[in-house]
Amino acid sequence: MNVPEMFGSMVFSDYVMKEMLPKKVYQSLQNTMKEGKALDEDVADIVASAMKEWAVGKGATHFTHWFQPMTGVTAEKHDSFLTVDKDGCVIMDFSGKELTKGEPDASSFPSGGLRATFEARGYTAWDPTSYAFIKDNTLCIPTAFCSYTGQILDKKTPLLRSMDAISGEAVRALAFFGKHVRRVNATIGAEQEYFLIDKDDYSKRLDLRLTGRTLIGAPAAKGQEMEDHYFGSIRPRVKAFMADLDEELWKLGITAKTEHNEVAPCQHEMAPIFDNANKATDANQLTMEMMRKVAERHGFACLLHEKPFEGINGSGKHNNWSLSTDEGENLLDPGKTPKDNAQFLLFLAAVIKAVDEYQDLLRISVASAGNDHRLGANEAPPAIVSIFVGDELEAVIESIIEDSPFKGRAGSSHLDIGTSVLPKLARDNSDRNRTSPFAFTGSKFEFRMPGSSFNIACTNVMLNTAVADALKSFCDELEGADDLDKALRAMIRRELKAHRRILFNGNGYSREWEVEAERRGLSNYRRTPDALVHYCDEKNVALFLRHGIYTKEEMESRLEISLDEYRKAVHIEAVTMLELLRRQILPASLRFSASEASSVQLKNGIGVASDADRALCERSSALCDELLHRIDDLDECVASGPEDTVESAFYAADRIIPAMEAARKASDALETIVDRSFWPIPTYSEILFYV
Ligand code: ADP
Ligand code: MG
Repeated sequence: MNVPEMFGSMVFSDYVMKEMLPKKVYQSLQNTMKEGKALDEDVADIVASAMKEWAVGKGATHFTHWFQPMTGVTAEKHDSFLTVDKDGCVIMDFSGKELTKGEPDASSFPSGGLRATFEARGYTAWDPTSYAFIKDNTLCIPTAFCSYTGQILDKKTPLLRSMDAISGEAVRALAFFGKHVRRVNATIGAEQEYFLIDKDDYSKRLDLRLTGRTLIGAPAAKGQEMEDHYFGSIRPRVKAFMADLDEELWKLGITAKTEHNEVAPCQHEMAPIFDNANKATDANQLTMEMMRKVAERHGFACLLHEKPFEGINGSGKHNNWSLSTDEGENLLDPGKTPKDNAQFLLFLAAVIKAVDEYQDLLRISVASAGNDHRLGANEAPPAIVSIFVGDELEAVIESIIEDSPFKGRAGSSHLDIGTSVLPKLARDNSDRNRTSPFAFTGSKFEFRMPGSSFNIACTNVMLNTAVADALKSFCDELEGADDLDKALRAMIRRELKAHRRILFNGNGYSREWEVEAERRGLSNYRRTPDALVHYCDEKNVALFLRHGIYTKEEMESRLEISLDEYRKAVHIEAVTMLELLRRQILPASLRFSASEASSVQLKNGIGVASDADRALCERSSALCDELLHRIDDLDECVASGPEDTVESAFYAADRIIPAMEAARKASDALETIVDRSFWPIPTYSEILFYV
């Protein structure tokens, strides 16, 4: 396999464009990509024609505008290149117009009331900053999705806006250090966790098929306590899947770099090499799709749900985030000179301020019914947002705040921003705090709260905009200063002090931290609706307005969609559970208990007493009664409930979920005593420890 040759072979990349486009057209397109300038129609026509040539040469017959509506899943509508020319001959055609603008019939995408169905049409517009690619013989053109009145209906547009916002402010900030760059990019590396299980087991479980997770299931005899799966040797079948996945991703220009096992049995992870936030988001969306597809080919089902199995770890997505100039300088890399250090501290202070002031937005960006099972459980970061900077950097920060000597490994010294060099920070894996939701890992921050199935755009919109805002306030202040050095020092110190409460190096999973966080005034929104209702808080609306990311109306529509999504997800789970319990679990358990009853009778007939049969019959009968009650309770719960979106989201959290948990308890108790040959669905041990 020739990897360099294969890599990006299905991408209309910079290299291909250079080869295929006239020099002037290429240059004009480059300007569009680098500076966000509008593409003129003639250029678009030439680009479209080259793109079609290239795509048809690779076997493509169709094209699609590939976009990310607010469902978070990517959407596409395929058109073929096929056209009949004026002589009645069939030709393959693709115009600049078709490339730059599309009109999917989008009435069924959620718009949160922004777009009435009678004016259903939205349009998609080419995003030339993310490359077009071929998938399933279709040329996919990454696009943004808007309504005709210009309201944004997707996840990409706000992301692009937030990237512009942070670039503008970071460029401003760099000028204080004598650096004049044109662009600063938010860079993202999204580590993707997932489960692979046998397709057969998957097909036999209604809950997995309809909701992506198991709604019932007694724990397997063995869980993850031996920790023998983590980085353990990979099953040959899984290895073949990973090799195939790498290949598919590489063809699409996605830099899949590491593949390994995770903590839970059947759990794995893929990490790519980081890229700018826009491309990284597109790549992650594609990665998830490819994981599912390639899994099929290998007789697996790929589960991207945050919590497919109770009692073992769920899956997340670590969003590694940093800032990089167009010259490739990483702004979160502590430098080697006093000046670099002052610059690093300014950006560090901006992140700390941003995360503290907009902790609610970060929490909101990861809120979903699925992720609620993960956050705050004993395996994933808590629902409280805090930052881990490591002991050394914390000591640096403390010494700046207190204006006291810094005590490092190399002894004690006085740190003065702008004149001192920071001690070299150890980049040691072992002392990293895995329990922190937002950890500094040497030259980037790692946000660990996103769920495995999430579109990372949302998280990065929040992060980029919040940091842009902190940088903006810094720049506004410093640009007016008489003595820049002095003002910078005072500002960093003041800001670090003001936001010190968000720094926490201890165990984020502990109960003590919850108490301590409350004392510090940090928010702790345990469940999705608790978090979501703060989305349109005044300060948040003001933030997004200030940076031209969302209008208030757009935010309100997003809130509506998120609440609705939550409510629907819970509702679907409840209804699926009812069907599973009523039509499979309860009847099977009753059959088992009846068979025990006949055993008792049979044996009595020949004068043999069987305590075991009697006991099992009694126990299972009692549990069946209990299960029936729980089913009825749940049924009643689901059938009633408020209409209003906010109220019904809370109703789902307060009433439906507890009713589901109670029903599960009864079912799981039955599972432990009912004869396996009666039990109608694959069990945890069978699913998780397949051979
Ligand atoms: P770690 O050892 O901290 O897990 P890795 O080198 O394995 O670090 O990287 C984890 C992820 O972070 C990878 O996807 C990687 O590409 C990404 N990453 C590394 N540097 C940056 C950066 N400057 N910006 C964004 N992501 C980054
Ligand atoms: Mg990681």
